[in-house]
Amino acid sequence: MGQLLFHSTNGKSPAVNLREALLLGLAPDRGLYFPEKFPKLAPEEIATFARLPYHEIAFRVLSKFTDGIIPSDILAAMCRSAYNFPVPLEIINVRIFLMRLDQGPTASFKDFAAQMMARMFGRFLREDNRQVTILTATSGDTGAAVAHAFHNIPGVRVIVLFPIDEVSESQRKLMTTLKDNVRTVAIDGKFDDCQAMVKRAFADPDLAHIPLSSANSINIGRLLPQSVYYFYAASRVAQAGEPVVFSIPSGNFGDMMGAVVAREMGLPVKKIICAVNDNDAFPKFLATGDYQKISPSRNSLSNAMNVGHPSNLARLVAVYGGQMDDTGKINKLPDLAAMRRDIFSTSISDERTVSGVREFWDNFQLLLEPHGAVAWQGFQDWNAAEPLGNSPAVIVETANPAKFPVEVEKVVGWAPDVPTNMLASFKLPEDFDRMEADYEKFKSYLLAKHA
Ligand SMILES: *Cc1c(COP(=O)(O)O)cnc(C)c1O
Repeated sequence: MGQLLFHSTNGKSPAVNLREALLLGLAPDRGLYFPEKFPKLAPEEIATFARLPYHEIAFRVLSKFTDGIIPSDILAAMCRSAYNFPVPLEIINVRIFLMRLDQGPTASFKDFAAQMMARMFGRFLREDNRQVTILTATSGDTGAAVAHAFHNIPGVRVIVLFPIDEVSESQRKLMTTLKDNVRTVAIDGKFDDCQAMVKRAFADPDLAHIPLSSANSINIGRLLPQSVYYFYAASRVAQAGEPVVFSIPSGNFGDMMGAVVAREMGLPVKKIICAVNDNDAFPKFLATGDYQKISPSRNSLSNAMNVGHPSNLARLVAVYGGQMDDTGKINKLPDLAAMRRDIFSTSISDERTVSGVREFWDNFQLLLEPHGAVAWQGFQDWNAAEPLGNSPAVIVETANPAKFPVEVEKVVGWAPDVPTNMLASFKLPEDFDRMEADYEKFKSYLLAKHA
């Protein structure tokens, strides 16, 4: 079978296979890699998932992308070791479920992608005898997940940039307490500044001799593993072939694109609810067709979603036949009617985020943190506009409430229990560099590190 090829959303770079797409991160024309066509899973194959554990479903989904690149016994072993933690689906109400993606090593959903991506990277680098520096901007959880996943992977150096005032203490400690091949840099600026610096470094000819790669959600390796839990959830809450509603708290739209990929591969989906915080560029675009990125991005309680211009939007636009360049300019409008049929988007204020946490606890005795609360309120908004009927629905909780102890305690009156893997990090000393949001300074820093 021929290898699946990935092309750039900017359309000016040659198509590459998964190995190259993963190692490069961003395409040379600054576009995002995306499959030329989506591999399909037959309904009968999807129906068998109901009897399979998570890691087996991961193997079956991901092998469609890795055929000819990673031998299947190796991929199966990667899936087994990456996905050795539970993925709880708690009943909220009859057929409405809460999927907790917070049981991985850093207690956020980003572990799902980072753990698999690090294994693939490690293998590709070893095969080619290559080295790489992974440059990542984080709004809190990516940095921790990436740092943990790539910690001590031979051939990899990790540099994480985070906005000093926009990450919680526990988010910060999960990334600044690792040593060895992991370096963290606190930037006096916003997440968008960090992301802009990283993007500029990738395009800088003076840094061309440094083999840079990205582990942000711009990397296709971050995206594909995030399609798996939608297959998994459907296999547990729906009958074979029955469409599911997913409500997803969204920032850079990597998580949401996982659901889009799953649907393109054949998973029956009734609606994808893309719930955002005050950074409402996308719901406005979906309603009007006019895209205005939000700059600077707005601070909200759900800080991992303080994104003024979701980088994966270029991929979503591509799925619907449009073209958006890397600056956010739309050169060709996507099929908005089709997009609206498949996707609902709504902006949730901090006030409603707080009341979401409170009502969820009062009504169901289940604890949410701010991101999950945005998804819950987004589901309410959708359900007010379109009837759920008897369909199953899955609300995605993307982080452990213990990552946001201050916000949660303010609402319910007590601090959530801290998972043991987080407690271990808290006991270690922190170590990070600090820098202004100044690209030239960052460039010198990178050059010095690679001298
Ligand atoms: C990163 C993150 C999000 C947003 O995910 P995207 O893929 O960027 O849309 C939501 N919740 C939490 C807890 C996160 O860490």
